[in-house]
Amino acid sequence: MASRVLYLLVLGAWIAALWLGLDYAAKEKQPPAAVPTTQVTWGDFFAANILPSLPVADEFDTPLRPPDGDGVVISLPFLEDEHLGEDWTTAKGDAALGEPVYSVADGWVSVAHDYENAFGKVVFICYRLPEGRYPPYVEMMYAQLNSLEVTSGQFVKRGQRIGTVGNANGTYKAHLHWEVRWVVGKGVGPGFDTNREGWLGPSEFLSAHRGDRFKSPLLPKVLDKTQRDGWGNDD
Ligand SMILES: [Zn+2]
Repeated sequence: MASRVLYLLVLGAWIAALWLGLDYAAKEKQPPAAVPTTQVTWGDFFAANILPSLPVADEFDTPLRPPDGDGVVISLPFLEDEHLGEDWTTAKGDAALGEPVYSVADGWVSVAHDYENAFGKVVFICYRLPEGRYPPYVEMMYAQLNSLEVTSGQFVKRGQRIGTVGNANGTYKAHLHWEVRWVVGKGVGPGFDTNREGWLGPSEFLSAHRGDRFKSPLLPKVLDKTQRDGWGNDD
């Protein structure tokens, strides 16, 4: 009699466990109560969640030879041949290889990555401009670097080394290709394009936002086409 009761108890417990288990499994498979119906863009996410915690970039220096870029030349200007950035260098041929590249202001490294293509090693840094300035923030791309000295997600100070000038594994003569975008998350982009929506002229941006820190002459010398022979650029 006792063993029969025990048998029924064990059987009952087994059935209960099976039933609870099935019930739990069914609940696991139910869809979530609220299914998102819209995608959050990186730009919206950045503006809402990251931008407020960034330092305010109210002073800007040059990315080569800061603070004033002494001895720097622009070997391919913004928008020439639909160039979406500027090529900066300090010497002919590959003599600028390894020249340090610096963050132009206090900011936040959104990406530091070796793309293993014509852009090579690239650092993207987001900068938050002071209240009332336009645009409210920019993302800069420092491309074709020979080395990366920062990592994604890191905060940097104005004048902090972020890498060195490269030549994209011999694709070009050494120079820095850098871009300024008022849209974040564009990635490396095309480099050259008829559509310049989202891009700003790097020198123009520096001169507009640097304020009192600029000394004369304000910007690096631009080499015209007849002077560029032997100088590193994207051509
Ligand atoms: Zn370029």
